[in-house]
Amino acid sequence: MTNFKIFFDEFFKNIGEDKNREGLKKTPQRVESSWKQLYSGYAKDPLSLLDSPLYDGVCDEMVVLKNIEFYSMCEHHILPFFGEISIGYIPNNKLVGISKLVELVEIFSKRLQIQENLTTQIADTLMKALNPKGVMVVAKATHLCMIMQGMEKKNSILITSAVRGIFKKDARSRAEFMEHIK
Ligand SMILES: [Zn+2]
Repeated sequence: MTNFKIFFDEFFKNIGEDKNREGLKKTPQRVESSWKQLYSGYAKDPLSLLDSPLYDGVCDEMVVLKNIEFYSMCEHHILPFFGEISIGYIPNNKLVGISKLVELVEIFSKRLQIQENLTTQIADTLMKALNPKGVMVVAKATHLCMIMQGMEKKNSILITSAVRGIFKKDARSRAEFMEHIK
């Protein structure tokens, strides 16, 4: 907390604020507790989240979970970016529950991120944990850093994707996934 207080004293001074102003007195404390939540992903290990998958020797059909809502902070400007992530994979006999996919997105989004890495980290973790035939992840997000600084318009959306395994070779699987998340 001491370092945190010093950090905010400097911050307020730098932007021309009066750190003793009534409305700001408790701000460092509030930010500290909000950061615990916003950056809670560092304390969780994505691989151990997925280390007890459901086994099912039969299923080798594509599994898709679309429009998983997420909120993250861009590592370049410490400003929010948020949107939706869709995940598809073709199992190799290991399946994972829906809630684990949602939590996987939480773990990686509650860190300082760029959208490209968020997308690939989710795909690579699923490849590693489940050894599926393939994984495809698509993220669509609005970046407040770009909008607030006037570099983008309000409705611009950045789309990133990560394609692994069979999805790379097989255009039909990619098309099937895209059709599902449309
Ligand atoms: Zn940014």
